[in-house]
Amino acid sequence: MDNSDGTRSALIVGAGIAGLTTASALARSGWSVEVIESGSEGTAAGWGLSLTGPSLRALHGLGLADQCLAAGYGMSVITNVDANGVASQLELPHLIGGDGPAMAGIARPELHRILRAEALRAGTRIHYGLSVSRLAQQDGQVCAELTDGTVRTVDLLVGADGIRSTVRDLIGRPTPVRYHGQMVWRARVPRPGWATGIHTFAGDGHQTGVVPISPSRAYVFLTENGVPPDVLPDAELAARMGELLAPFTGRVAELRPEVARSDSVIRRPVQTVLIDTSWSDGPSVVLGDAAHTPSPQMASGAALAIEDGLVLAKELDRYQDVGKALEAFTDRRRERCSALVRASVAIASLEQEQRHRESYPLIEACHHRMAQPA
Ligand SMILES: Cc1cc2nc3c(=O)[nH]c(=O)nc-3n(C[C@H](O)[C@H](O)[C@H](O)COP(=O)(O)OP(=O)(O)OC[C@H]3O[C@@H](n4cnc5c(N)ncnc54)[C@H](O)[C@@H]3O)c2cc1C
Repeated sequence: MDNSDGTRSALIVGAGIAGLTTASALARSGWSVEVIESGSEGTAAGWGLSLTGPSLRALHGLGLADQCLAAGYGMSVITNVDANGVASQLELPHLIGGDGPAMAGIARPELHRILRAEALRAGTRIHYGLSVSRLAQQDGQVCAELTDGTVRTVDLLVGADGIRSTVRDLIGRPTPVRYHGQMVWRARVPRPGWATGIHTFAGDGHQTGVVPISPSRAYVFLTENGVPPDVLPDAELAARMGELLAPFTGRVAELRPEVARSDSVIRRPVQTVLIDTSWSDGPSVVLGDAAHTPSPQMASGAALAIEDGLVLAKELDRYQDVGKALEAFTDRRRERCSALVRASVAIASLEQEQRHRESYPLIEACHHRMAQPA
């Protein structure tokens, strides 16, 4: 990359939530930014996610919260129901000011469309079907050999390549991916009229719930306890999820037929990653899930990923020396991200032990902690 005019250059590996927001934040700070993504354009799976307060706040920082709310569904309350009825109602902290909701549900493709459009608008170049095969440091820069045989020499290399990060290995931070004995399911369904916030339902064996992602759509989630991390054929997923929901009565029973005929069901292992040493090596760094993957229970992985991009850009503004900025970035982020990963693991354990009433206060405390500035 040519930076003879003094413009600093960055190569970002991964065009997910972390990669695209980091690209926008750096491009706005005057960096020349290129993103490479191993997948193809528009492949974000068709299920949804919750953007909790810190996600909305960070998106607000990029001027994107209103777009996400318009494309998704704003809400503020989590209602937890167990066999004895409503066990708790949690009003989440409102972090975007005004009358804005505390959180939003949104379809993943919608979120990716908004993040990608902003990264392109800010001047980022994005290439699909491309990855990195080798990294070397040279005179304070990084030489990245790409899978198409070309080479980029840049001032900053960001690994935003998710839980199975290649960059993490290439910079010498191999870290185990831990499986926690649970599989999480998501099925897209029409939004039931009563689902104006997140509802969770604890059963004897598994937990389920509903998250609205637009005025007309929602997803049903299910956490299956005590299973090996096996893979089921896609064609069997909707029927199997329907079976797992069979013991639930009331509102879940009403939704079961919708799940069984859903056109979009996914099943993913509950896994976590936490790098316990530095996230950087000279001018290379990993962030987002590549550095810290929480389990989905706290619905806050996206918040950490977006915050990472914003904080990184700020630290790079503060320090001309990229290596120093990356160390400052890790120092600033480590405690918050580690605490969330650990709390998410603790919640997963409580769920498996059917100690739901103990998990709710932990979830509430964690949301309040996450409400503190990043
Ligand atoms: C089932 C499930 C439900 C979840 N629900 C929520 C939720 O409701 N709310 C929430 O906040 N979080 C949720 N999360 C967590 C959230 O999805 C992640 O924390 C977030 O996506 C992390 O963003 P990321 O960009 O770091 O990683 P990713 O989103 O995984 O993006 C990484 C990108 O890098 C690409 N890539 C991978 N390897 C390479 C390579 N070698 N070269 C180039 N590109 C590469 C991938 O294709 C991908 O596009 C959930 C997670 C799961 C599994």
